Amino acid sequence: MTPRGAQPGATADVDVAVVGAGFAGLYMLYRLRELGLRVRVFERGTDVGGTWFWNRYPGARCDIESVDYCYSFSGELLAEWVWTERYATQPEILRYLHHVADRFSLRRDIQLGTRVTSMRYDEPGNRWLVSTDAGEVLSARHCVLAVGNLSSAKRPDFAGLDSFRGDWYHTSRWPAAGVDFGGKRVGIVGTGSTAIQALPQIAKQADDVYVFQRTPNYSMPARNRPLPRDELHAVLRGYPERRRAAEQSDSGVPVAPPERSALEVTAEERRRMYEAGWQRGGINALSYAFTDFFTDERANRTAQDFAREKIRQIVHDPAVAEALCPAHHIGTKRTCVDIGYFETYNRANVHLVDVRSAPITGITPGGLTTTAGEYGLDAIVFAIGFDAITGALLEIDVRGRNGLSLAEKWSGGPRTYAGLSVAGFPNLFMITGPGSPSVLSNMVVSIEQHVDWIADCLSHLADAGLDHIEASPGAEDAWGRHVSELADATLYPRAASWYVGANIPGKPRVFMPYVAGCGNYRQECEQIVERGYEGFVLGRER
Ligand SMILES: Cc1cc2nc3c(=O)[nH]c(=O)nc-3n(C[C@H](O)[C@H](O)[C@H](O)COP(=O)(O)OP(=O)(O)OC[C@H]3O[C@@H](n4cnc5c(N)ncnc54)[C@H](O)[C@@H]3O)c2cc1C
Repeated sequence: MTPRGAQPGATADVDVAVVGAGFAGLYMLYRLRELGLRVRVFERGTDVGGTWFWNRYPGARCDIESVDYCYSFSGELLAEWVWTERYATQPEILRYLHHVADRFSLRRDIQLGTRVTSMRYDEPGNRWLVSTDAGEVLSARHCVLAVGNLSSAKRPDFAGLDSFRGDWYHTSRWPAAGVDFGGKRVGIVGTGSTAIQALPQIAKQADDVYVFQRTPNYSMPARNRPLPRDELHAVLRGYPERRRAAEQSDSGVPVAPPERSALEVTAEERRRMYEAGWQRGGINALSYAFTDFFTDERANRTAQDFAREKIRQIVHDPAVAEALCPAHHIGTKRTCVDIGYFETYNRANVHLVDVRSAPITGITPGGLTTTAGEYGLDAIVFAIGFDAITGALLEIDVRGRNGLSLAEKWSGGPRTYAGLSVAGFPNLFMITGPGSPSVLSNMVVSIEQHVDWIADCLSHLADAGLDHIEASPGAEDAWGRHVSELADATLYPRAASWYVGANIPGKPRVFMPYVAGCGNYRQECEQIVERGYEGFVLGRER
Protein backbone atom coordinates (compact mmCIF):
# COMPACT_ATOMS: atom_id res chain seq x y z
CA MET A 1 0.00 0.00 0.00
CA THR A 2 1.33 3.43 -0.83
CA PRO A 3 0.14 5.88 1.81
CA ARG A 4 -1.44 9.12 0.76
CA GLY A 5 1.22 11.70 -0.06
CA ALA A 6 3.99 9.14 -0.53
CA GLN A 7 5.42 8.45 -3.95
CA PRO A 8 7.48 5.29 -4.36
CA GLY A 9 11.06 6.08 -5.22
CA ALA A 10 10.60 9.84 -4.87
CA THR A 11 13.09 11.83 -2.84
CA ALA A 12 11.66 14.65 -0.77
CA ASP A 13 13.53 17.07 1.43
CA VAL A 14 12.67 18.10 4.97
CA ASP A 15 14.56 19.65 7.83
CA VAL A 16 13.69 16.91 10.29
CA ALA A 17 12.35 13.37 9.91
CA VAL A 18 10.69 11.96 13.01
CA VAL A 19 9.95 8.25 13.41
CA GLY A 20 6.94 7.44 15.61
CA ALA A 21 3.73 9.27 16.48
CA GLY A 22 3.17 8.43 20.13
CA PHE A 23 3.55 10.89 23.02
CA ALA A 24 7.13 11.61 21.90
CA GLY A 25 6.66 12.02 18.15
CA LEU A 26 3.57 14.22 18.53
CA TYR A 27 5.23 16.66 20.89
CA MET A 28 8.44 16.65 18.84
CA LEU A 29 6.44 17.66 15.78
CA TYR A 30 4.72 20.43 17.74
CA ARG A 31 8.04 21.89 18.93
CA LEU A 32 9.74 21.63 15.54
CA ARG A 33 6.83 23.37 13.84
CA GLU A 34 7.14 26.19 16.37
CA LEU A 35 10.73 26.61 15.17
CA GLY A 36 9.46 26.96 11.60
CA LEU A 37 11.10 23.71 10.46
CA ARG A 38 9.75 21.42 7.74
CA VAL A 39 9.01 18.08 9.35
CA ARG A 40 7.73 14.67 8.28
CA VAL A 41 6.64 12.13 10.88
CA PHE A 42 6.43 8.46 9.91
CA GLU A 43 4.21 6.10 11.87
CA ARG A 44 3.76 2.43 11.06
CA GLY A 45 0.41 2.26 12.88
CA THR A 46 -2.73 3.32 11.04
CA ASP A 47 -3.33 6.09 13.56
CA VAL A 48 -1.41 8.17 16.07
CA GLY A 49 -1.09 7.23 19.76
CA GLY A 50 1.85 4.79 19.89
CA THR A 51 1.58 2.53 22.96
CA TRP A 52 -2.06 3.55 23.36
CA PHE A 53 -2.90 2.75 19.75
CA TRP A 54 -1.41 -0.75 19.91
CA ASN A 55 -2.20 -1.97 23.45
CA ARG A 56 -5.97 -2.34 23.53
CA TYR A 57 -6.16 -5.46 25.67
CA PRO A 58 -8.85 -5.58 28.35
CA GLY A 59 -7.77 -3.72 31.49
CA ALA A 60 -5.08 -1.62 29.74
CA ARG A 61 -4.54 1.66 31.55
CA CYS A 62 -1.68 3.82 32.77
CA ASP A 63 -0.11 3.15 36.14
CA ILE A 64 1.08 6.70 36.68
CA GLU A 65 -1.80 8.95 37.76
CA SER A 66 -3.60 10.48 34.77
CA VAL A 67 -2.99 14.05 35.94
CA ASP A 68 0.76 13.37 35.82
CA TYR A 69 0.77 11.05 32.80
CA CYS A 70 -0.02 13.84 30.36
CA TYR A 71 1.61 16.77 28.60
CA SER A 72 2.28 20.01 30.43
CA PHE A 73 3.44 22.16 27.52
CA SER A 74 0.07 23.81 26.90
CA GLY A 75 -1.93 25.46 29.67
CA GLU A 76 -5.01 25.43 27.43
CA LEU A 77 -4.70 21.71 26.80
CA LEU A 78 -4.33 21.06 30.51
CA ALA A 79 -7.36 23.17 31.32
CA GLU A 80 -9.68 21.71 28.70
CA TRP A 81 -8.96 17.98 29.05
CA VAL A 82 -11.00 16.18 31.69
CA TRP A 83 -9.45 13.01 33.14
CA THR A 84 -12.21 10.89 34.59
CA GLU A 85 -10.30 8.32 36.64
CA ARG A 86 -7.23 8.29 38.85
CA TYR A 87 -5.64 5.97 36.26
CA ALA A 88 -6.96 6.55 32.76
CA THR A 89 -7.97 3.62 30.59
CA GLN A 90 -6.37 2.96 27.20
CA PRO A 91 -9.39 4.35 25.29
CA GLU A 92 -9.28 7.56 27.32
CA ILE A 93 -5.54 8.07 26.76
CA LEU A 94 -5.94 7.34 23.05
CA ARG A 95 -8.79 9.89 22.83
CA TYR A 96 -6.49 12.39 24.55
CA LEU A 97 -3.70 11.82 22.03
CA HIS A 98 -6.17 12.12 19.12
CA HIS A 99 -7.36 15.37 20.65
CA VAL A 100 -3.75 16.62 20.85
CA ALA A 101 -3.12 15.68 17.21
CA ASP A 102 -6.30 17.46 16.08
CA ARG A 103 -6.11 20.47 18.37
CA PHE A 104 -2.61 21.38 17.21
CA SER A 105 -3.29 20.34 13.58
CA LEU A 106 -0.46 17.84 13.73
CA ARG A 107 -1.90 15.25 11.37
CA ARG A 108 -0.96 17.02 8.15
CA ASP A 109 2.74 16.26 8.71
CA ILE A 110 2.22 12.67 9.84
CA GLN A 111 2.39 9.83 7.36
CA LEU A 112 0.50 6.88 8.84
CA GLY A 113 0.80 3.22 7.85
CA THR A 114 4.44 3.75 6.92
CA ARG A 115 7.35 1.89 8.46
CA VAL A 116 10.82 3.35 8.29
CA THR A 117 13.07 0.53 7.18
CA SER A 118 16.48 2.19 6.91
CA MET A 119 18.28 5.44 7.61
CA ARG A 120 21.61 6.20 6.01
CA TYR A 121 23.86 9.15 6.77
CA ASP A 122 25.09 10.68 3.53
CA GLU A 123 28.40 12.11 4.66
CA PRO A 124 29.20 14.39 1.70
CA GLY A 125 25.71 15.91 1.79
CA ASN A 126 25.47 15.94 5.62
CA ARG A 127 21.96 14.59 5.29
CA TRP A 128 20.07 11.48 6.30
CA LEU A 129 18.34 9.35 3.68
CA VAL A 130 15.28 7.81 5.25
CA SER A 131 13.68 4.86 3.42
CA THR A 132 10.23 3.49 4.08
CA ASP A 133 8.35 0.31 3.29
CA ALA A 134 6.34 2.37 0.81
CA GLY A 135 9.48 2.65 -1.32
CA GLU A 136 9.89 6.32 -0.58
CA VAL A 137 13.21 7.98 0.24
CA LEU A 138 13.24 11.17 2.23
CA SER A 139 16.25 13.39 2.72
CA ALA A 140 16.45 15.10 6.10
CA ARG A 141 19.09 17.24 7.81
CA HIS A 142 18.18 15.85 11.24
CA CYS A 143 16.39 12.74 12.43
CA VAL A 144 14.58 12.01 15.67
CA LEU A 145 13.87 8.43 16.67
CA ALA A 146 10.67 8.56 18.72
CA VAL A 147 10.11 4.84 18.24
CA GLY A 148 9.22 3.95 21.83
CA ASN A 149 10.87 1.85 24.53
CA LEU A 150 8.09 -0.70 24.61
CA SER A 151 6.93 -0.84 21.01
CA SER A 152 8.84 -3.80 19.61
CA ALA A 153 6.56 -6.64 20.70
CA LYS A 154 8.18 -10.00 21.37
CA ARG A 155 6.81 -12.60 18.97
CA PRO A 156 5.43 -15.83 20.40
CA ASP A 157 7.82 -18.46 19.03
CA PHE A 158 6.25 -21.56 20.53
CA ALA A 159 6.50 -24.72 18.47
CA GLY A 160 3.16 -25.71 16.96
CA LEU A 161 1.48 -22.31 17.22
CA ASP A 162 0.45 -22.54 13.54
CA SER A 163 -1.45 -25.73 14.30
CA PHE A 164 -3.61 -24.15 17.05
CA ARG A 165 -7.31 -24.46 16.14
CA GLY A 166 -8.42 -21.68 18.47
CA ASP A 167 -7.65 -17.95 18.29
CA TRP A 168 -4.51 -16.40 19.70
CA TYR A 169 -3.73 -12.79 20.50
CA HIS A 170 -0.72 -10.71 21.36
CA THR A 171 -1.68 -8.09 23.93
CA SER A 172 0.12 -5.31 22.09
CA ARG A 173 -1.50 -6.15 18.75
CA TRP A 174 -5.01 -6.45 20.13
CA PRO A 175 -7.96 -6.31 17.69
CA ALA A 176 -9.54 -2.85 17.71
CA ALA A 177 -13.02 -4.41 17.79
CA GLY A 178 -12.20 -6.25 21.04
CA VAL A 179 -12.50 -9.96 21.83
CA ASP A 180 -15.37 -11.84 23.46
CA PHE A 181 -14.03 -14.65 25.64
CA GLY A 182 -17.51 -15.72 26.80
CA GLY A 183 -17.81 -19.50 27.08
CA LYS A 184 -14.12 -20.04 26.32
CA ARG A 185 -11.17 -21.70 27.99
CA VAL A 186 -8.44 -19.09 27.81
CA GLY A 187 -4.71 -19.42 28.40
CA ILE A 188 -2.67 -16.36 29.38
CA VAL A 189 1.06 -16.72 28.86
CA GLY A 190 3.09 -14.30 30.99
CA THR A 191 2.60 -12.56 34.33
CA GLY A 192 4.13 -9.12 33.79
CA SER A 193 2.40 -5.78 33.98
CA THR A 194 0.09 -6.49 31.03
CA ALA A 195 -1.16 -9.88 32.24
CA ILE A 196 -1.65 -8.40 35.70
CA GLN A 197 -3.97 -5.79 34.18
CA ALA A 198 -5.71 -8.17 31.78
CA LEU A 199 -6.37 -11.24 33.96
CA PRO A 200 -9.09 -9.74 36.20
CA GLN A 201 -11.01 -8.58 33.12
CA ILE A 202 -10.63 -11.79 31.11
CA ALA A 203 -11.53 -13.93 34.14
CA LYS A 204 -14.89 -12.15 34.37
CA GLN A 205 -15.77 -13.29 30.82
CA ALA A 206 -14.16 -16.64 30.24
CA ASP A 207 -15.34 -20.03 31.46
CA ASP A 208 -11.85 -20.92 32.62
CA VAL A 209 -8.53 -19.09 32.60
CA TYR A 210 -5.16 -20.82 32.85
CA VAL A 211 -2.34 -18.43 33.76
CA PHE A 212 1.05 -19.77 32.70
CA GLN A 213 3.55 -18.19 35.07
CA ARG A 214 7.33 -18.42 34.85
CA THR A 215 8.22 -15.58 37.24
CA PRO A 216 5.82 -14.05 39.74
CA ASN A 217 5.88 -10.27 40.05
CA TYR A 218 5.23 -7.74 42.76
CA SER A 219 2.09 -5.73 42.20
CA MET A 220 0.74 -2.79 44.17
CA PRO A 221 -3.00 -2.04 44.43
CA ALA A 222 -3.96 0.85 42.13
CA ARG A 223 -6.76 2.11 44.37
CA ASN A 224 -8.29 3.40 41.20
CA ARG A 225 -11.38 5.59 41.52
CA PRO A 226 -13.30 8.18 39.58
CA LEU A 227 -11.65 11.59 39.57
CA PRO A 228 -14.21 14.20 40.65
CA ARG A 229 -14.14 17.49 38.73
CA ASP A 230 -13.43 19.57 41.83
CA GLU A 231 -10.40 17.41 42.64
CA LEU A 232 -9.14 17.77 39.08
CA HIS A 233 -9.59 21.53 39.23
CA ALA A 234 -7.71 21.69 42.53
CA VAL A 235 -4.83 19.77 40.94
CA LEU A 236 -4.80 22.15 37.99
CA ARG A 237 -4.66 25.22 40.22
CA GLY A 238 -1.34 24.03 41.61
CA TYR A 239 -0.15 22.39 38.42
CA PRO A 240 3.08 24.33 37.69
CA GLU A 241 4.43 23.49 41.15
CA ARG A 242 3.20 19.90 40.87
CA ARG A 243 4.92 19.43 37.53
CA ARG A 244 8.12 21.06 38.70
CA ALA A 245 8.17 18.65 41.64
CA ALA A 246 7.68 15.75 39.22
CA GLU A 247 10.48 16.99 36.97
CA GLN A 248 12.88 17.27 39.90
CA SER A 249 11.89 13.93 41.44
CA ASP A 250 13.49 10.55 40.85
CA SER A 251 10.66 8.87 39.00
CA GLY A 252 8.86 11.80 37.41
CA VAL A 253 5.97 11.95 39.84
CA PRO A 254 5.38 14.62 42.47
CA VAL A 255 6.19 12.60 45.57
CA ALA A 256 8.34 13.91 48.41
CA PRO A 257 11.60 11.95 48.59
CA PRO A 258 12.03 9.64 51.58
CA GLU A 259 14.32 10.79 54.37
CA ARG A 260 15.04 7.76 56.51
CA SER A 261 16.59 4.35 56.07
CA ALA A 262 14.27 1.36 56.49
CA LEU A 263 16.84 0.05 58.96
CA GLU A 264 16.88 3.02 61.29
CA VAL A 265 13.22 2.76 62.30
CA THR A 266 11.48 0.17 64.45
CA ALA A 267 9.64 -2.76 62.89
CA GLU A 268 6.34 -1.14 63.91
CA GLU A 269 7.22 2.14 62.25
CA ARG A 270 8.29 0.33 59.08
CA ARG A 271 5.04 -1.57 58.97
CA ARG A 272 3.08 1.65 59.52
CA MET A 273 4.90 3.30 56.60
CA TYR A 274 4.42 0.34 54.27
CA GLU A 275 0.78 -0.06 55.26
CA ALA A 276 0.12 3.64 54.58
CA GLY A 277 1.73 3.24 51.14
CA TRP A 278 -0.25 0.08 50.42
CA GLN A 279 -3.49 1.86 51.32
CA ARG A 280 -2.54 4.87 49.14
CA GLY A 281 -1.68 2.46 46.32
CA GLY A 282 0.19 3.04 43.10
CA ILE A 283 3.55 2.13 41.64
CA ASN A 284 5.55 3.86 44.39
CA ALA A 285 3.40 2.50 47.23
CA LEU A 286 6.39 0.93 48.98
CA SER A 287 9.42 2.30 47.13
CA TYR A 288 9.04 5.87 48.42
CA ALA A 289 8.90 4.89 52.08
CA PHE A 290 12.67 4.70 52.72
CA THR A 291 15.89 5.98 51.20
CA ASP A 292 17.59 2.60 50.81
CA PHE A 293 14.82 0.66 49.08
CA PHE A 294 16.85 0.30 45.86
CA THR A 295 20.32 0.18 47.39
CA ASP A 296 20.39 -2.02 50.47
CA GLU A 297 19.47 -5.71 50.39
CA ARG A 298 18.31 -5.78 53.99
CA ALA A 299 16.16 -2.66 53.58
CA ASN A 300 14.70 -4.03 50.36
CA ARG A 301 13.91 -7.33 52.05
CA THR A 302 11.68 -5.58 54.58
CA ALA A 303 9.51 -4.33 51.70
CA GLN A 304 9.62 -7.72 49.96
CA ASP A 305 8.41 -9.42 53.14
CA PHE A 306 5.58 -6.92 53.48
CA ALA A 307 4.47 -7.44 49.86
CA ARG A 308 4.61 -11.23 50.17
CA GLU A 309 2.60 -11.08 53.37
CA LYS A 310 -0.09 -9.11 51.51
CA ILE A 311 -0.24 -11.76 48.79
CA ARG A 312 -0.66 -14.47 51.42
CA GLN A 313 -3.45 -12.48 53.06
CA ILE A 314 -5.32 -11.90 49.80
CA VAL A 315 -5.03 -15.30 48.10
CA HIS A 316 -7.05 -17.96 49.93
CA ASP A 317 -5.29 -21.10 48.69
CA PRO A 318 -1.90 -21.20 50.48
CA ALA A 319 -0.23 -23.15 47.66
CA VAL A 320 -1.40 -20.65 45.04
CA ALA A 321 -0.36 -17.74 47.28
CA GLU A 322 3.11 -19.24 47.69
CA ALA A 323 3.47 -19.70 43.93
CA LEU A 324 2.51 -16.03 43.42
CA CYS A 325 5.16 -14.77 45.87
CA PRO A 326 8.11 -13.24 44.00
CA ALA A 327 11.65 -13.90 45.17
CA HIS A 328 13.59 -11.07 43.50
CA HIS A 329 14.50 -7.75 45.11
CA ILE A 330 11.34 -5.69 44.95
CA GLY A 331 11.53 -2.88 42.39
CA THR A 332 14.39 -4.41 40.39
CA LYS A 333 11.88 -5.72 37.86
CA ARG A 334 9.15 -3.28 36.92
CA THR A 335 6.69 -3.13 39.79
CA CYS A 336 3.15 -3.68 38.54
CA VAL A 337 -0.04 -1.94 39.55
CA ASP A 338 -3.32 -3.83 39.60
CA ILE A 339 -7.02 -3.71 40.15
CA GLY A 340 -7.86 -6.99 41.86
CA TYR A 341 -5.08 -9.15 40.38
CA PHE A 342 -4.31 -11.32 43.39
CA GLU A 343 -8.01 -11.41 44.38
CA THR A 344 -8.78 -12.93 40.96
CA TYR A 345 -6.96 -16.12 41.97
CA ASN A 346 -9.76 -16.72 44.49
CA ARG A 347 -12.17 -17.30 41.60
CA ALA A 348 -13.00 -20.94 40.89
CA ASN A 349 -12.44 -20.42 37.15
CA VAL A 350 -8.82 -19.16 37.47
CA HIS A 351 -5.96 -21.67 37.51
CA LEU A 352 -2.29 -20.83 38.06
CA VAL A 353 0.15 -23.05 36.18
CA ASP A 354 3.81 -22.93 37.20
CA VAL A 355 5.87 -23.17 34.02
CA ARG A 356 9.14 -22.62 35.85
CA SER A 357 9.02 -26.14 37.25
CA ALA A 358 7.21 -27.62 34.22
CA PRO A 359 8.17 -25.51 31.17
CA ILE A 360 5.95 -24.97 28.13
CA THR A 361 6.88 -27.47 25.42
CA GLY A 362 4.61 -26.20 22.66
CA ILE A 363 1.18 -25.52 21.28
CA THR A 364 -1.08 -28.26 19.93
CA PRO A 365 -4.26 -27.97 17.83
CA GLY A 366 -6.28 -28.23 21.05
CA GLY A 367 -4.20 -26.23 23.54
CA LEU A 368 -0.84 -25.83 25.21
CA THR A 369 1.53 -28.47 26.55
CA THR A 370 4.02 -28.30 29.37
CA THR A 371 6.34 -31.02 30.58
CA ALA A 372 3.56 -31.84 33.07
CA GLY A 373 0.75 -32.35 30.51
CA GLU A 374 -1.69 -30.69 28.10
CA TYR A 375 -4.13 -27.85 28.84
CA GLY A 376 -7.16 -27.71 26.53
CA LEU A 377 -7.70 -24.13 25.35
CA ASP A 378 -9.99 -22.26 22.94
CA ALA A 379 -7.93 -19.05 22.98
CA ILE A 380 -4.41 -18.04 23.99
CA VAL A 381 -3.35 -14.56 25.06
CA PHE A 382 0.36 -13.88 24.81
CA ALA A 383 1.38 -11.21 27.31
CA ILE A 384 5.07 -11.79 26.75
CA GLY A 385 6.39 -8.27 26.61
CA PHE A 386 8.80 -6.41 24.42
CA ASP A 387 12.33 -6.21 23.16
CA ALA A 388 12.58 -3.22 25.44
CA ILE A 389 14.47 0.05 25.00
CA THR A 390 16.64 -0.96 22.03
CA GLY A 391 14.25 -3.22 20.06
CA ALA A 392 12.47 -0.63 17.92
CA LEU A 393 15.70 1.33 17.35
CA LEU A 394 17.48 -1.74 16.00
CA GLU A 395 14.57 -2.82 13.80
CA ILE A 396 15.60 0.06 11.56
CA ASP A 397 18.83 -0.39 9.59
CA VAL A 398 20.49 2.80 10.83
CA ARG A 399 23.90 3.54 9.29
CA GLY A 400 26.05 6.46 10.33
CA ARG A 401 29.52 7.55 9.30
CA ASN A 402 31.45 5.13 7.07
CA GLY A 403 28.37 2.93 6.79
CA LEU A 404 28.69 1.86 10.45
CA SER A 405 25.42 0.25 11.50
CA LEU A 406 23.84 0.95 14.85
CA ALA A 407 23.38 -2.81 15.31
CA GLU A 408 27.14 -3.36 14.88
CA LYS A 409 28.00 -0.48 17.14
CA TRP A 410 25.65 -1.81 19.82
CA SER A 411 26.56 -5.48 19.44
CA GLY A 412 27.92 -5.47 23.00
CA GLY A 413 25.03 -3.37 24.33
CA PRO A 414 23.76 0.16 23.65
CA ARG A 415 26.15 3.11 23.93
CA THR A 416 24.85 6.66 23.91
CA TYR A 417 25.74 10.10 25.09
CA ALA A 418 23.10 11.14 27.63
CA GLY A 419 20.62 8.74 26.06
CA LEU A 420 20.12 11.35 23.34
CA SER A 421 22.81 10.80 20.78
CA VAL A 422 25.35 8.26 19.45
CA ALA A 423 28.95 8.97 18.36
CA GLY A 424 29.33 8.34 14.63
CA PHE A 425 25.66 9.15 13.97
CA PRO A 426 25.58 12.93 13.46
CA ASN A 427 22.37 14.94 13.61
CA LEU A 428 20.45 11.92 14.91
CA PHE A 429 18.62 12.05 18.23
CA MET A 430 16.73 9.52 20.30
CA ILE A 431 13.92 10.23 22.71
CA THR A 432 14.17 8.40 26.04
CA GLY A 433 17.00 6.29 24.65
CA PRO A 434 19.21 3.87 26.60
CA GLY A 435 21.30 5.79 29.13
CA SER A 436 18.40 8.09 30.08
CA PRO A 437 15.81 7.55 32.85
CA SER A 438 13.28 6.29 30.27
CA VAL A 439 11.30 3.34 31.65
CA LEU A 440 12.29 4.05 35.26
CA SER A 441 10.32 7.28 35.08
CA ASN A 442 6.96 8.77 34.25
CA MET A 443 7.64 8.61 30.55
CA VAL A 444 5.69 11.70 29.59
CA VAL A 445 7.80 13.86 31.90
CA SER A 446 10.95 12.33 30.40
CA ILE A 447 9.62 12.71 26.86
CA GLU A 448 8.86 16.41 27.35
CA GLN A 449 12.36 16.99 28.72
CA HIS A 450 14.05 15.21 25.79
CA VAL A 451 11.89 16.88 23.17
CA ASP A 452 12.56 20.30 24.67
CA TRP A 453 16.30 19.60 24.83
CA ILE A 454 16.39 18.52 21.16
CA ALA A 455 14.24 21.46 19.98
CA ASP A 456 16.41 23.94 21.91
CA CYS A 457 19.52 22.33 20.44
CA LEU A 458 18.23 22.66 16.85
CA SER A 459 17.24 26.25 17.57
CA HIS A 460 20.76 26.92 18.88
CA LEU A 461 22.33 25.38 15.77
CA ALA A 462 20.15 27.54 13.51
CA ASP A 463 20.92 30.73 15.46
CA ALA A 464 24.64 29.98 15.31
CA GLY A 465 24.52 29.17 11.58
CA LEU A 466 25.56 25.55 12.23
CA ASP A 467 24.19 22.39 10.66
CA HIS A 468 26.03 19.58 12.38
CA ILE A 469 26.09 18.08 15.88
CA GLU A 470 27.65 14.82 16.91
CA ALA A 471 28.51 13.21 20.24
CA SER A 472 32.23 12.71 20.75
CA PRO A 473 33.38 9.11 21.40
CA GLY A 474 35.05 10.23 24.64
CA ALA A 475 31.86 11.76 26.00
CA GLU A 476 29.91 8.68 25.03
CA ASP A 477 32.38 6.37 26.81
CA ALA A 478 32.34 8.54 29.92
CA TRP A 479 28.53 8.57 29.93
CA GLY A 480 28.42 4.79 29.59
CA ARG A 481 30.76 4.39 32.58
CA HIS A 482 28.71 6.91 34.57
CA VAL A 483 25.42 5.10 33.87
CA SER A 484 26.96 1.71 34.80
CA GLU A 485 28.52 3.03 37.99
CA LEU A 486 25.21 4.53 39.07
CA ALA A 487 23.39 1.27 38.34
CA ASP A 488 26.02 -0.87 40.07
CA ALA A 489 25.47 1.07 43.30
CA THR A 490 21.88 -0.23 43.33
CA LEU A 491 20.18 -3.62 43.38
CA TYR A 492 18.75 -3.13 39.87
CA PRO A 493 21.35 -5.01 37.80
CA ARG A 494 20.99 -8.11 39.97
CA ALA A 495 17.59 -9.04 38.55
CA ALA A 496 17.14 -10.93 35.28
CA SER A 497 14.81 -8.22 34.03
CA TRP A 498 13.96 -6.67 30.69
CA TYR A 499 15.89 -3.63 31.95
CA VAL A 500 19.01 -5.74 31.25
CA GLY A 501 17.59 -7.49 28.20
CA ALA A 502 17.21 -10.82 30.03
CA ASN A 503 13.89 -11.61 28.32
CA ILE A 504 15.44 -11.68 24.84
CA PRO A 505 17.72 -14.65 24.10
CA GLY A 506 21.12 -13.47 22.91
CA LYS A 507 20.59 -9.83 23.85
CA PRO A 508 23.68 -8.37 25.55
CA ARG A 509 23.07 -8.08 29.29
CA VAL A 510 23.59 -4.41 30.01
CA PHE A 511 21.56 -2.40 32.48
CA MET A 512 20.15 0.24 30.12
CA PRO A 513 18.40 3.04 32.03
CA TYR A 514 19.98 5.91 33.99
CA VAL A 515 19.07 5.25 37.64
CA ALA A 516 19.87 8.52 39.40
CA GLY A 517 16.45 10.00 38.69
CA CYS A 518 14.74 12.55 36.48
CA GLY A 519 15.87 15.57 38.51
CA ASN A 520 19.58 14.68 38.46
CA TYR A 521 19.41 13.67 34.82
CA ARG A 522 17.74 16.94 33.86
CA GLN A 523 20.51 18.82 35.63
CA GLU A 524 23.17 16.85 33.75
CA CYS A 525 21.49 17.67 30.42
CA GLU A 526 21.25 21.35 31.35
CA GLN A 527 24.93 21.40 32.29
CA ILE A 528 25.87 19.97 28.90
CA VAL A 529 24.18 22.99 27.29
CA GLU A 530 25.53 25.54 29.79
CA ARG A 531 29.04 24.28 29.03
CA GLY A 532 28.57 24.95 25.32
CA TYR A 533 27.19 21.52 24.39
CA GLU A 534 30.00 19.82 26.22
CA GLY A 535 30.77 16.40 24.77
CA PHE A 536 29.31 17.27 21.38
CA VAL A 537 31.14 18.47 18.30
CA LEU A 538 29.21 21.26 16.57
CA GLY A 539 30.02 22.61 13.14
CA ARG A 540 29.05 23.73 9.71
CA GLU A 541 29.44 21.27 6.85
CA ARG A 542 27.23 22.71 4.08
C1 LIG B 1 0.65 -1.36 28.15
C2 LIG B 1 1.59 -0.27 28.49
C3 LIG B 1 1.30 0.58 29.54
C4 LIG B 1 2.17 1.62 29.86
N1 LIG B 1 1.88 2.42 30.92
C5 LIG B 1 2.73 3.42 31.24
C6 LIG B 1 2.48 4.28 32.36
O1 LIG B 1 1.50 4.13 33.06
N2 LIG B 1 3.38 5.24 32.63
C7 LIG B 1 4.49 5.43 31.89
O2 LIG B 1 5.26 6.33 32.18
N3 LIG B 1 4.74 4.65 30.82
C8 LIG B 1 3.90 3.66 30.49
N4 LIG B 1 4.18 2.87 29.42
C9 LIG B 1 5.33 3.18 28.57
C10 LIG B 1 4.84 3.93 27.31
O3 LIG B 1 5.37 3.27 26.21
C11 LIG B 1 5.24 5.39 27.38
O4 LIG B 1 4.64 5.98 28.50
C12 LIG B 1 4.85 6.26 26.19
O5 LIG B 1 3.59 5.97 25.69
C13 LIG B 1 5.91 6.16 25.12
O6 LIG B 1 5.65 7.07 24.10
P1 LIG B 1 6.62 7.13 22.84
O7 LIG B 1 6.02 8.09 21.90
O8 LIG B 1 8.01 7.32 23.28
O9 LIG B 1 6.59 5.64 22.26
P2 LIG B 1 5.36 4.81 21.69
O10 LIG B 1 4.10 5.23 22.31
O11 LIG B 1 5.76 3.40 21.78
O12 LIG B 1 5.30 5.26 20.17
C14 LIG B 1 6.29 4.90 19.26
C15 LIG B 1 5.66 4.77 17.91
O13 LIG B 1 6.70 4.58 16.95
C16 LIG B 1 6.22 3.74 15.95
N5 LIG B 1 7.36 3.13 15.30
C17 LIG B 1 8.34 2.36 15.85
N6 LIG B 1 9.22 1.98 14.91
C18 LIG B 1 8.80 2.53 13.74
C19 LIG B 1 9.30 2.49 12.41
N7 LIG B 1 10.41 1.81 12.09
N8 LIG B 1 8.62 3.15 11.45
C20 LIG B 1 7.48 3.85 11.75
N9 LIG B 1 6.96 3.90 13.00
C21 LIG B 1 7.61 3.25 13.99
C22 LIG B 1 5.40 2.71 16.70
O14 LIG B 1 4.43 2.12 15.85
C23 LIG B 1 4.75 3.56 17.79
O15 LIG B 1 3.47 3.95 17.43
C24 LIG B 1 3.34 1.81 29.09
C25 LIG B 1 3.64 0.93 28.05
C26 LIG B 1 2.79 -0.10 27.76
C27 LIG B 1 3.15 -1.02 26.63
